[in-house]
Amino acid sequence: MKVDPATQRRLLDLATVDGELSRIVHRRGSLPEAQEAATAEQTRRASQEAVSAGETSASDLDREIRRLERDVDAVRDRGGRDRDLLAGSGVSAKQAVDLQHELETLARRQGVLEDELLEVLEQRESVGTELDKARAELATAEQALTEASDRRDAAMADLDAAEQDKSSERKVITAELPAELISLYERIRAQGHAGAALLRRGACGGCRLDLDRTALGELRSAEPDEIVRCEECGSILVRTEESGL
Ligand SMILES: [Zn+2]
Repeated sequence: MKVDPATQRRLLDLATVDGELSRIVHRRGSLPEAQEAATAEQTRRASQEAVSAGETSASDLDREIRRLERDVDAVRDRGGRDRDLLAGSGVSAKQAVDLQHELETLARRQGVLEDELLEVLEQRESVGTELDKARAELATAEQALTEASDRRDAAMADLDAAEQDKSSERKVITAELPAELISLYERIRAQGHAGAALLRRGACGGCRLDLDRTALGELRSAEPDEIVRCEECGSILVRTEESGL
């Protein structure tokens, strides 16, 4: 393939743009802002779980409190009725003894229930304090997530803009190059090499190999419009006054 030296040099611009495009893709995949946003999301989720767990405990305890209060009321009502009966007329001595006995049992029962209620109320208070703390932490975590997401989105938008710039530049360059040359360049790149590189002081700019004397001799004797390639990486070697030939 014969390509005039000026066009060959343009291939170096294409390789530079492609290198930048690769760096953008790599940067997008390893963006610290994306990592920070992911970590913030984990923190938010953990905070949300702590709040949910606290809310479940609080509602379980509230139900328990209502149940105990109903039980205390029921015992108190029963005692009231017994005392009314005792105070009324028409109660036999045997019934009076039974009622007295039941009132004592009810009083003990009420004491037990009230102790239990007190204990549950204390638990509820401490769960409430924990829940307030968890809710405050969740609010902080949500704020941090919003900020981290904004930073990530801004960084992504910068990369998108840079990528668009480089893609436009690439279009301009490839429009100037022969299709056959681009297709050779693409094939070499597809193998993971530079595609095209400057031969600089006798070394390939793609793989950094120092060419030996024989190889340099061949390059020296090749016509300027000849496409020459690195024997190591296969990249198209572009010769300029820096090449040291
Ligand atoms: Zn090379």
